[in-house]
Amino acid sequence: MAPLSIQGQLQSLSDRKRPAARLVAALLVLSCLLVCMLTGWEIWTSRREVLREAEVSTTNMARVLALHTETTMKVADIVLLDMVERAEREGLAAASGERLRTHLEHIARKASELHGLFIYNARGEWTATSLGRVQQGNNSDRDYFKYHQHNTGRSMHIGAPIRSRSSGVWIVPISRRLEHADGSFAGVALVTMRVDFFESAYSKLDVGDRGTILFALDTGTLYYRRPFVEGIIGLDISSGPFMQLYRRTGRVGTAMFTAKVDGVRRLYSYRHLDGFPLIVAAALSAEEIYAPWWSSALQLAGGLAFFIAILLWLGTKLLQQLAIRERLEQQLHLVSSGLAQANAELSSLALTDGLTQLANRRAFDAAVQRELARARREGSPVSLLILDVDHFKRFNDTYGHLAGDACLRRIASAIATQVTRPADLPARYGGEEFVVLLPATSPDGAAMVAERIRRAVTSLHIAHAYSSEGTVSVSIGGATIDAGSVGAGPADLIAAADAALYEAKGEGRNRFRFRPGSVVAGKTQQEALQDQEMHA
Ligand code: GH3
Ligand code: MG
Ligand code: MG
Repeated sequence: MAPLSIQGQLQSLSDRKRPAARLVAALLVLSCLLVCMLTGWEIWTSRREVLREAEVSTTNMARVLALHTETTMKVADIVLLDMVERAEREGLAAASGERLRTHLEHIARKASELHGLFIYNARGEWTATSLGRVQQGNNSDRDYFKYHQHNTGRSMHIGAPIRSRSSGVWIVPISRRLEHADGSFAGVALVTMRVDFFESAYSKLDVGDRGTILFALDTGTLYYRRPFVEGIIGLDISSGPFMQLYRRTGRVGTAMFTAKVDGVRRLYSYRHLDGFPLIVAAALSAEEIYAPWWSSALQLAGGLAFFIAILLWLGTKLLQQLAIRERLEQQLHLVSSGLAQANAELSSLALTDGLTQLANRRAFDAAVQRELARARREGSPVSLLILDVDHFKRFNDTYGHLAGDACLRRIASAIATQVTRPADLPARYGGEEFVVLLPATSPDGAAMVAERIRRAVTSLHIAHAYSSEGTVSVSIGGATIDAGSVGAGPADLIAAADAALYEAKGEGRNRFRFRPGSVVAGKTQQEALQDQEMHA
């Protein structure tokens, strides 16, 4: 889900943002993978560790079992050797006597692990026992008897488990051959051990609920297996996986396999006893070995899943935020560019006269200030023309206000076409009055422009019944602030030009008048000179 939504978020981003977002997503996925790998490694190594600890544990248990069983077997063997030595030294006839019987009884009492001690003559008849009474019986049919009858070897023989004729319990028969002085078969000495003796000894080892302990002949005949049930005593397991492992591996080994008997998978450690044809084994069930590991692995995996979910969620959120931010940025850009355009339109509106589309009074005021300051810095002159439409009231009265407006528009465009320098600023001053600001322009230059404008207006040939020429005309007054007129301001310049305009009107209109001299601090140069003469 999360990777899909990350993919979705990536798609929603613009080409500009996508590479960075992709990098973030890649880092996110990479760190998730890394954490997964580390956790996987941790889980795997802890599983190996758990198995290794279990191996140590089963190996140690097998060692303890082997030690205990060897000791027990050695006791049986020592007793057996003693019995053989006595029987052969004293003769079987004497052996049947009271002394040997008492001796056997005494040993059996002392060595609790031994079930019974028996001496049989060459025909298998009970000659002496530890059972405390004279017994009648013949054991010539037993496997161990037949074994010694037909094998001249004097070594100890451990037989398959059998049910005791004297007590009915399951026993392990351990026997040796008795011989006459000439080496002929004289009978058998037998020591028996109860199988349940091993059961009680082995039960002290904890192998868990599903673990097991085995005790068998190395040919594959089972004496004991936990859980202890009579049915398995004497079972042949020579073809089972355990004996296969023994044959494959040797005297000591450890392996995991599934038992044939109960289908439980276990870790088995076995040992072949030193000096006896016996094998003991301890096994722990795989399920129990791995149980604590499973719970910690599941916890770790759960924690990891949670961590990754949080990480992916955060990543998705981050990309979401990126997308939102980008959308906002785009909207902001749109709004701000719209705003900038609106602002530009507004400011041009604020500085433009609605009727004539020339600069308005406000634009003119700012320009005069600016240009005068510049002129002072650069030591250049600034000229100004003021134009007033002649008899315009009458024009309005005669042709109507709308015609008056149209006339003003035509005059404005005529003025604009005559003003050519980029720095020159024609503007509507108010009503039917216009101004033309001419930076870096001398009185001569200003006079030229004024004359051009005057002619251009009359050339429009706008009929005006009350004008002397029969067409609309303008009167123009001009003034210049000279480079040297340090203190003169906009008001001085305007007043001087206005005064010139007044003269033009007074002299008959449709003409240009320039006040002689330049404007100096509120007065024209000529006025300043006159002032100086008066004070002299
Ligand atoms: P003079 O030659 O002395 O300047 O005469 P004049 O009639 O032009 O004098 P005055 O300044 O008294 O009249 C100006 C007239 O211009 C007043 C008004 O009717 C007209 N006027 C001012 N502004 C506008 C305008 O925006 N549109 C129109 N149609 N007429 C205007
Ligand atoms: Mg006027
Ligand atoms: Mg006028």
